[in-house]
Amino acid sequence: MAKKTFKAETKQLLDLMINSIYTNREIFLRELISNASDAIDKLKFKALTDEALLKDGSDFEIRLNPDKEAKTLTISDNGIGMTYDEVIENIGTIAKSGSKEFFEKMMKDKEADEKNAAEFIGQFGVGFYSAFMVADRVKIRTRAAGAPENEGVVWESAGDGTYTIDKTDVEKRGTEITLYLKPDCITDMQLLDRYELEELVSHYSDFIRYPVKMMVENTIPEEKDKDGKVTKEKETVLEDKILNSMKPIWSRNKSEVTDEEYKDFYRHTFHSYDEPADIIQTKGEGQVEYTALLFIPSDVPFNFYSSQFERGLALYCKQVFIMDKCKELIPEYLGFVKGVVDSPDFSLNISREILQHSAQLSIISKNLEKKILASLKYMLENDRDKYVKFWLGFGRAIKAGIYSDFGMNKDKLQDLLLFDSSKSEELTTLDEYVKRMPENQKEIYFATGRDKASISAIPQMEAVADKGFEVLYFTDKIDEFMTTVLATYKEKPLKNIAAGDLNLDTDEEKKAKEEKRKEQETASKSLLETLKKHLAGEVSDVRLSSRLKNSAVCIVAGEGISLNMEQVLAETPMYAMTAPKANKILEINPDHKIFKKLTEIYDADPESEKLKDMAEILYDQALLIEGIQPKNPVKFANLISDMLSEIAL
Ligand code: ADP
Repeated sequence: MAKKTFKAETKQLLDLMINSIYTNREIFLRELISNASDAIDKLKFKALTDEALLKDGSDFEIRLNPDKEAKTLTISDNGIGMTYDEVIENIGTIAKSGSKEFFEKMMKDKEADEKNAAEFIGQFGVGFYSAFMVADRVKIRTRAAGAPENEGVVWESAGDGTYTIDKTDVEKRGTEITLYLKPDCITDMQLLDRYELEELVSHYSDFIRYPVKMMVENTIPEEKDKDGKVTKEKETVLEDKILNSMKPIWSRNKSEVTDEEYKDFYRHTFHSYDEPADIIQTKGEGQVEYTALLFIPSDVPFNFYSSQFERGLALYCKQVFIMDKCKELIPEYLGFVKGVVDSPDFSLNISREILQHSAQLSIISKNLEKKILASLKYMLENDRDKYVKFWLGFGRAIKAGIYSDFGMNKDKLQDLLLFDSSKSEELTTLDEYVKRMPENQKEIYFATGRDKASISAIPQMEAVADKGFEVLYFTDKIDEFMTTVLATYKEKPLKNIAAGDLNLDTDEEKKAKEEKRKEQETASKSLLETLKKHLAGEVSDVRLSSRLKNSAVCIVAGEGISLNMEQVLAETPMYAMTAPKANKILEINPDHKIFKKLTEIYDADPESEKLKDMAEILYDQALLIEGIQPKNPVKFANLISDMLSEIAL
């Protein structure tokens, strides 16, 4: 027999289970039954390709055995079991999912006291270790499916930091977990009481697909003949009772299912420990018959925005599992939705290839899309805070939906978009923006940048704000991509305030400004030419601006791609080398004192070196305002220092 020590993390988690948690402890049963059900799932899956694994039979079951004399409760299953190494690997370390997240959350919260623990424990699956909340000592006997009888394993621990493990004979495949109950769990929690156990199973584990059985005593009443003479004494018999209905939750009436049951199902089935933002149960009849139970998560899975994330819904046929993560059941952009679809219209051994081309699947997918979008719209209109939280996590997926499928989804999705804006404290919809538009505003203005602060500083904002117009802040890099598809909303074009002419003025104002600008430009023609020469290769033109009020300079993009798009492409590995450059124009504010200074220097000496330095500084400055790094930051800094030191002299 080998005596071993738990890994440090596991020991801490055990300490927590043993010493800190006194409420909600009954969930240990849900956790152990859930592990048993997973173990049977795993065996069934493996047996598809290796039938020999089922040589001990395929009547799957989970069994509870309360033993009042020994003061133990045993939970056993005839699932996949574990080998010696697997026991060390799986039980000696904190596994993935639940336990680990729970543990990390508890450790982050320095005041991991009893209250927090009790709160968290409801939210997370805490796995096998929860056994130590109710037991002083836990013993596992297990044998892996396919392993010979003498390769069973016995493992035991009192949760004190060490455990023992040994090889032993185990008659049948599967796992048996014996809990040596703490005294108060027998007296107060009644964990050996038949009715209490029945209640716990039906409360927490009713939807488990395999029967959870227990031997119970039943009394058969005495029988009498017509004269009242007892012909058969009353009798007590031991009978197997199935404690869970096994009826999948989605096939039950919505009104019969409690919130808690939905959440337990969500947790158990998808190993998700967040609170679903919405739960959608829906039925389809007609072309295809189906029932679907969908969950919109509230937390973003850590790998959601990576290629490792596997989307799709589980597919069942008349309550029999066909496959997991069936991608064709839901549009790609709604990949964050979790759920199951049960339809009698598929055959059990349908292959993935056939499924891919199944018209029925695409009908289901379209219907579910409608339902999900309707539910999101409802959330947006009726529970804005919840929607905002959803949006902050999954908004990008919705935006990706706008430009996917050749823009076909635009009409369905545009009202779900939220943006920061110059006028609203809270995130705003396009509809709300349009409703606030003054009558003389014809376009929806947006500006792109890293964050709200850097957009507020864009010089063009002044001119738009001056007119009393609102600007949407596009702080997500994909926002601008999206507008190439969005283009208009309620017939109002979306307009980037940093690109081209803004058209804010009335015709007369425009004419007057333009004339003034032309006059100044003619007067300064040679100065502007000189500046352009100094910035050759960087800008296509240097001109005077009629859009700036307080700022000295700005960059506008001429024809072609915008500055933001240039940045996005440059950062996309696929395009980085060949990325096209935006056609940049440097605009100078003729009313700014820097312009006067430039003119003075030029008039004194058109060849002055200073003009070159100033041109470079002004250009870099305009880039910085756009959130773009100067090409040569060191040179930029040195030029500024040189100028500053001149002033100081
Ligand atoms: P989780 O279930 O979140 O992975 P647990 O702590 O509950 O974490 O279990 C750790 C691991 O131990 C499981 O992933 C599984 O591999 C193994 N395990 C637990 N219970 C059983 C069981 N009844 N049969 C087979 N393996 C089990």
